[in-house]
Amino acid sequence: MLETLPLLDVTDFPSIERGTTETLQVNLGYRCNQTCLHCHVNAGPNRTEMMASELIDQVIEVLKQRDITTLDLTGGAPELHPEFRKLVTQARALGVKVIDRCNLTILFEPGQEGLAEFLADQGVDVVASLPCYSLENVDRQRGKGVFDKSIQGLQRLNSLGYGHADSALHLNLVYNPQGPSLPPDQQKLEADYKRELLAHFGIVFNELYALANMPIQRFGSTLLSKGQFEPYMDLLKANYQASNLPGVMCRSLISVDWQGKLYDCDFNQQLGLGMVTPGPNTLTTLLETDRAGDSIRVAEHCYGCTAGQGSSCGGAL
Ligand code: SF4
Ligand code: SF4
Repeated sequence: MLETLPLLDVTDFPSIERGTTETLQVNLGYRCNQTCLHCHVNAGPNRTEMMASELIDQVIEVLKQRDITTLDLTGGAPELHPEFRKLVTQARALGVKVIDRCNLTILFEPGQEGLAEFLADQGVDVVASLPCYSLENVDRQRGKGVFDKSIQGLQRLNSLGYGHADSALHLNLVYNPQGPSLPPDQQKLEADYKRELLAHFGIVFNELYALANMPIQRFGSTLLSKGQFEPYMDLLKANYQASNLPGVMCRSLISVDWQGKLYDCDFNQQLGLGMVTPGPNTLTTLLETDRAGDSIRVAEHCYGCTAGQGSSCGGAL
């Protein structure tokens, strides 16, 4: 894979500082039942990296200590962590909103029986990637048979009350463009998704998050190999919107890797770009001190968060 980090580190992106941390986004490990071509952490069934039990306990302590309002769980497939259900139950008991970044096919994996019911019982928000509403595009990106299973997963969640307008069970979908272009208008695309998924599969959902691709990891490597890296960066920069700067997710979110190390966001975690603040920057330090007011480690890929309608883990800004 071609590395884009050397091309991203020197930047003219504006300096920004952290505000109060509202969301702790935790990567529970790289094990996954899928092996998607574009996977940013190269997850798969044979990966063994997994957050240790003591760190899971620390996550709960940090939620309490820092009055975090949202726990956002990622992976791999976060549900494959043996302590996933314990962590969710404890966080919900504290009144913390929990988001499960779910690949949908995990709902049908052996050993995951009752997962959909568990998520519904606990009132967990489900965020699922569905890069297109057509079988061909999804199977090309995520593997053969993934589209059909994803559709079944969405239907299963709908049957439990997820995604209905009057329900407290939220089901949100994520879209990324297939190539080096900015995502289309989120509202219009959401209307298209809602119309098509309802008409063909009887599926309902709450919101669609249309996110720009970051020029890092596999996508960045593909851009480099096709000579599209510079034009894509030019596109992101030409569409810079200063009005998106206050809403970038790193101002209110801390990203934690499976070893308990802190980052300003998941993209920085993927690049191995640690926080600017000197020190170990681990869950342990977060127990002692908040990071409000600290400078954020920016680089060229940050233009991916501020281009056009803006991008964050909750969609357009
Ligand atoms: S489902 Fe997600 S974590 Fe799993 S391989 Fe695909 S992109 Fe990676
Ligand atoms: S890439 Fe990360 S650090 Fe940069 S603006 Fe986006 S969220 Fe913030």
